[in-house]
Amino acid sequence: MPANARKNVVATIAQIGEPLTTIAAGKANIIMLMGEGVDPHLYRLTRSDVAKLNRADLVLYNGLHLEAQMLGMMERFARRKPVVAIADTLADRNLLTWAGKTHDPHVWMDPQLWSHALAAAVDALAAVDTPNAPFYRANAGRYFAKLSALDRRARAAVKTIPAHRRALVTAHDAFGYFGRSYGLDVLAIQGISTESEAGIRKIETLVDTLVRRKIAAVFVETTVSERNVRALIEGAAARGHAVHIGGALFSDAMGAKGHYTGTYLGMFDHNVTTVVRTLGGNAPASGFGGQLAERAN
Ligand SMILES: [Zn+2]
Repeated sequence: MPANARKNVVATIAQIGEPLTTIAAGKANIIMLMGEGVDPHLYRLTRSDVAKLNRADLVLYNGLHLEAQMLGMMERFARRKPVVAIADTLADRNLLTWAGKTHDPHVWMDPQLWSHALAAAVDALAAVDTPNAPFYRANAGRYFAKLSALDRRARAAVKTIPAHRRALVTAHDAFGYFGRSYGLDVLAIQGISTESEAGIRKIETLVDTLVRRKIAAVFVETTVSERNVRALIEGAAARGHAVHIGGALFSDAMGAKGHYTGTYLGMFDHNVTTVVRTLGGNAPASGFGGQLAERAN
């Protein structure tokens, strides 16, 4: 292989791979293992994934037990090549714990915190490809500035939601960092992983909360079955309280490649715009980037 050949970087989730593709701007090959609608909690490596990992100069994954089915393989590759769990590089004090023990892995829900995790990815890329390191760092600076601008606009928009309506009810507990960062109460049917099933009791408790707080909208997720959300709506209806589906949010996977929502910025824009508009706040229908034109609602 010539010394100037492009480096191969494998990223498990698109929330890592797509920003890095933008930052690398063609100077490195960024290969993503999981695409639209894929649940990283449950995803198992395929034979072709393993071949990609074998060829990789650098492997990036989220960590904090998100990619629960591939941890053994990541440890094995880490003996031979640089393998970085980018969310594991964050200080414990910045991470949410769940049920008092495990860390919540859904760090990309807070763009500020995610930019720190992505900075670790950029550092790792710069270390394996030193001639291009200044190029990557300059691009990363521009990318993080865009991310900060989106974060500021999202923050202002969430503040327009009436205070009593700032509750986000979802299928699984992926929005903890989003809620912490933007000041929304987050209520979820399943825990931080989709690996374990939600109990009837949990659904009953949530129905109580919906009725008591007069919460009128719940959200579905693109990677999780709607079944539990439907049970919640039916439970509330049986108590005489109407609840509707406020839209689909991207929780653990982004939109289709080649679409605005297939980018980290677009995915985030979609989520914030959907949440703010559904809960009675002000946000432009086409999103902060003016690119959500194909939206159905
Ligand atoms: Zn999740």
